[in-house]
Amino acid sequence: MPYKFKCADIGMNCGFTVKGASTDELMPKIAQHAKDAHKIEEINEDLKKKVQGAIKKTMF
Ligand SMILES: [Zn+2]
Repeated sequence: MPYKFKCADIGMNCGFTVKGASTDELMPKIAQHAKDAHKIEEINEDLKKKVQGAIKKTMF
């Protein structure tokens, strides 16, 4: 699970974190979370770039 995303890293006051094997695996999970927790129905290009920039590679 080398990729990790933290909602707080894109400026959200939120403790959500998610891990996955690839960015592609993370994106749908982040989209689902954005919908459920932040009422963001669709991730637009700007937000997508922000999210992708915040995804970090981790060894854990
Ligand atoms: Zn969040």
